[in-house]
Amino acid sequence: MPRTLPSRTLVLNATYEPIGVVPSRRAVVLALTDKVDVLSESAARISSANLDLAVPSVVRLRYYVKVPYQRTAPLSRRAVFARDHGVCQYCGKPAESIDHVIPRSRGGEHTWENVVACCRRCNTLKSDRLLRDCPLELRSTPAAPTRFVWLKVAAGTVPADWAPYLDSYAA
Ligand SMILES: [Zn+2]
Repeated sequence: MPRTLPSRTLVLNATYEPIGVVPSRRAVVLALTDKVDVLSESAARISSANLDLAVPSVVRLRYYVKVPYQRTAPLSRRAVFARDHGVCQYCGKPAESIDHVIPRSRGGEHTWENVVACCRRCNTLKSDRLLRDCPLELRSTPAAPTRFVWLKVAAGTVPADWAPYLDSYAA
């Protein structure tokens, strides 16, 4: 098996509910041991003397796995960037940092509702002021992310062929 397999594979429960992201290497093993059905393949292939297989991009477990708790994304810089699509929530340019809408120095909390991705310019412009005291406006109200942000965080980016499987559960 080559050392550099393309990234990651989306794992769906038997019910088609997305339950995780695994290294593609792991997904290949699941496929070879008949634990999963491959729903979508990536362009990359694994070949050896007795094996030639497309690297799975989306797989579905053949058995149902009980997921004991609702997965949520812990609040982290990476998760905030994923929720905010990597753009500054004040001006729409690429974000480089995290801003507390109500500054921590003014009692603002480190919560999903009070943090946004922010570019350096807006961060400097805003400084430790409240929004009403500076010429910036939020493009959207920050909120806890949809349940699949953790997935984007795990995957880095979401491949196009994952989207249909995520969309049907995104409500
Ligand atoms: Zn900005």
